[in-house]
Amino acid sequence: MDTDELYQELIVDHSKNPRCFGTLISPDATKNLLNPLCGDNVNLEIKVRDGKVTKIAFEGHGCSISQASTSMMSELCLGKPIEEVKELIEIFHRMMKGEVSEEELDKLGDASALQGVQRFAARIKCAMLGWEAMSQCLEQSSQ
Ligand code: ZN
Repeated sequence: MDTDELYQELIVDHSKNPRCFGTLISPDATKNLLNPLCGDNVNLEIKVRDGKVTKIAFEGHGCSISQASTSMMSELCLGKPIEEVKELIEIFHRMMKGEVSEEELDKLGDASALQGVQRFAARIKCAMLGWEAMSQCLEQSSQ
């Protein structure tokens, strides 16, 4: 199995069996984002305690890239300090521009499987949707 096939399998796995799927009771922040270009929708909810993202849940529908990316983001960021989550979002942004080092890619875990999306300009918004929702949830929770 080559790398492209492995990546493809990870994307299919996350889109079919999304991690952290569902809703939270009394979340600290919630954000619903649409990608009208593709019809993707993500509703992300988080809980924050002691500077860490302690709970994450999302619901959504749309293309497999948008749903897999949100699942990968949720799994990766769960339990991590807010500052680290912000850094991961920033690395993911740069991956979509093709501006990351191998070391940074490692930090993204399964989400590094979406590296190839940068070649398809129309799909970048799909991949970014869940990460943008997380970024806006963090802003809400810090207010
Ligand atoms: Zn999409």
